[in-house]
Amino acid sequence: PIVLGIESTCDETAAAVVQGRTLRSNVVASSMNEHARYGGVIPEIASRAHAQAFVPVVSQALADAGLTIDDVDAIAVSAGPGLAGCLAVGVSGAKALAWSANKPLYGINHVIGHIAVTQLQFGPFPKDTLALIVSGGHTSLLHVEDVARKVDVVGTTLDDAAGECFDKVARLLGFPYPGGPHIDRHAQHGDPHAIKVPMGLTQGKAGKQHPYDFSFSGVKTAVARWVEQQQAAGRPVPVDDVCASLADSVATVLAKKAMTGCEQYGSKTLIVGGGFSANSQLRAKLLEEGAKHGVEVRIPQIKLCTDNGAMVAMLGVNLVEAGVAPSDPDFPIDSAMPMDRIVM
Ligand code: ATP
Ligand code: MG
Ligand code: FE
Repeated sequence: PIVLGIESTCDETAAAVVQGRTLRSNVVASSMNEHARYGGVIPEIASRAHAQAFVPVVSQALADAGLTIDDVDAIAVSAGPGLAGCLAVGVSGAKALAWSANKPLYGINHVIGHIAVTQLQFGPFPKDTLALIVSGGHTSLLHVEDVARKVDVVGTTLDDAAGECFDKVARLLGFPYPGGPHIDRHAQHGDPHAIKVPMGLTQGKAGKQHPYDFSFSGVKTAVARWVEQQQAAGRPVPVDDVCASLADSVATVLAKKAMTGCEQYGSKTLIVGGGFSANSQLRAKLLEEGAKHGVEVRIPQIKLCTDNGAMVAMLGVNLVEAGVAPSDPDFPIDSAMPMDRIVM
């Protein structure tokens, strides 16, 4: 099947066409530069940008694929989770388009899209695989029985997401938003063992077992304290070492829990997705641990890690292939869409 995917959960207006497992076009417009001076995404600005970019981006995606709307079998759009005002623009636009062209429309889960997109590079999922989703808003381990029908949460962060933790430390170090890529770059020149950064929730809290849950808020606080102490003592802050030590700690705990999960669930594959999977320290650590444990780690190329329309279209293809019914014409957006819900 040929599916047009539309994405507008945050600051990217994106559209793409996927045919089977082939990416035929992929257009991304971002309002990121408009938010940089505020240190984070301003929902009102992002929503306006979506309203402006929607038609040009969707038209370009169809044109790049050499298709018209009549040629597609279905349309998929992110219905959540994300910023309500942003979702409303994308979903309303997609509904209007589907209605006028008389095409089935799927309101899909953006987070599941982040893992579905790996199929463009690695082919269909094996049945019963584990997936690690690491993004600006999410850090979870999922059990994917069937990406079109059944996904369960195995573990999740109890506070901050990994990307959020990087962005917060980056702000402290004076990097512009989003700071994740800056930490990545500096970490490449630092000593990962220079500073002792705690591993978020390794054993689980006393009395409670969290073998697959994560916690990164304490990691951020520990780094902040250490930097403050250096500054108070009039010592220079070794930025590269701070970044390398943080990245090593976060990547280590993510890889460790993902591998434990694969062992317990008998999964020989680990699917990885989300903006934070662009992080080079995490990519290296996952591939290294995967090789040790006999697990094939499927991490998408960088441009498919961050928000895009291909991830939405790919999940749409999975839904069409599985014969899942399209969403009702009045389906709502869900800014807090739970991860075990694949489609509205
Ligand atoms: P969600 O998908 O949970 O709704 P989101 O869509 O906002 O959240 P993504 O766009 O998937 O998140 O990812 C953005 C995050 O990825 C930001 O936190 C950003 O700092 C982080 N990120 C991107 N590249 C890198 C990198 N190389 N190293 C570390 N973090 C990175
Ligand atoms: Mg973004
Ligand atoms: Fe995302």
